[in-house]
Amino acid sequence: MLAPGSTIGILGGGQLGRMLAVAAAQLGFKVHIYAPDAESVAAEVTAHHSQAAWDDEPRLAAFAAACDAATFEFENVPVDTVRFLSGHVAIRPGARGLEIAQDRLAEKHFVASIGGRPAPFASVPDRAALDVALADIGTPAILKTVRMGYDGKGQARLAAPADADTAWETIGRHAAILEGFVGFDHEFSVIMVRGIDGETRFWDSSVNVHIDGILSTASLPPPQIVRDQQDQARAMMANIAAELDYVGVLTGEFFATDDGPVFNEMAPRVHNSGHWTIEGAETSQFENHIRAIAGLPLGSTATRALPVVMQNLIGADIAQIPALLADENCHVHHYSKTEVRPGRKLGHATWVGTDPA
Ligand code: AMP
Repeated sequence: MLAPGSTIGILGGGQLGRMLAVAAAQLGFKVHIYAPDAESVAAEVTAHHSQAAWDDEPRLAAFAAACDAATFEFENVPVDTVRFLSGHVAIRPGARGLEIAQDRLAEKHFVASIGGRPAPFASVPDRAALDVALADIGTPAILKTVRMGYDGKGQARLAAPADADTAWETIGRHAAILEGFVGFDHEFSVIMVRGIDGETRFWDSSVNVHIDGILSTASLPPPQIVRDQQDQARAMMANIAAELDYVGVLTGEFFATDDGPVFNEMAPRVHNSGHWTIEGAETSQFENHIRAIAGLPLGSTATRALPVVMQNLIGADIAQIPALLADENCHVHHYSKTEVRPGRKLGHATWVGTDPA
């Protein structure tokens, strides 16, 4: 169990790290951010910051020596970085969940191997394999790069086999996976936390709406079909976490379909669709992640009041903040990023116990 005053290292310097750092501070911990980027909105709120490359072993070793435990907030941290650090400091969750989540093909095989249900998929290592995969999976389908995809990037939709050339060019001719298009009613997430002792807790599932592949809103209560499928999806996530001997917050994204929940992807970290838990749950995903990796008792994940709506502020949406601040029921979060770009997540707003005005 980490004593107050201990230092928690976080790999990655974005808004997830910032919100983790605030939660860690509340529990009496200091935070050390390690990230290669010049701008770190997480390091702005922490005591210590290393700006260094993911493969800079002397800097990583110094970071590890300065920390009592470590974690990550960015799912594209190289697995080798986490493996290297694990020889120097307790890093939770471990490298294996990260390694699986970074490779869409490995992720789908893993989930299927433990009885989970992913969308139909086929490996597409090269252009010729795409034709074979299309014959197998059919259309409509989605071609996704195996690695480095997030927020809908590295994806192309195929309405018919004739779209193969365009899709292959769109994703940059990288090794890919072809997924059958899942006719879903709704998308939802399962966010769970698992302690060092294996204790597992779940937050209520939100229904998630994406625009252009980017999360727009997460809301509760979700429609009945999601409520009906939440337990099955939770069982899948609990299996994944147990198999990985996972410690910390783990997120699964699902499609609610007429045939039950279909696994889309997992994130070995706190998740955008869980930002509502800061004001909407007894213990937020950020606080419970810190509690878990610090070996502290987990807090209640109960929802405080319904309805809950979390709205992302993306790109130009950030200009809405003065108006949102005038809404007495709105909880406003500004990530303090300096550059406003279309598609960039710059903040979010949450309403608990009331709908947005
Ligand atoms: P991903 O990056 O895999 O989460 O994909 C981004 C978004 O694309 C998802 O949230 C869905 O809205 C949509 N999507 C991804 N995969 C599929 C699929 N196999 N079938 C239908 N829609 C999908």
